[in-house]
Amino acid sequence: MKQKKYHEHLRRTLPEEDEIECQNCKQKFCDQFNLLSLATLNFCLLCANKKLDKETIRERYNVE
Ligand SMILES: [Zn+2]
Repeated sequence: MKQKKYHEHLRRTLPEEDEIECQNCKQKFCDQFNLLSLATLNFCLLCANKKLDKETIRERYNVE
């Protein structure tokens, strides 16, 4: 049990685990702006700009 928790802790804190894959273009991102975009919009910045209009993007960010 303890071992498992430690492993989860590591997974959360190790930098390389911060990569998030964009469901749309399947690219992995680890920079702050794309991570924020992925967390908020479920798209990387590029896909968000293609998929969503600016109003939608602004609204989603404001909800945070
Ligand atoms: Zn993308």
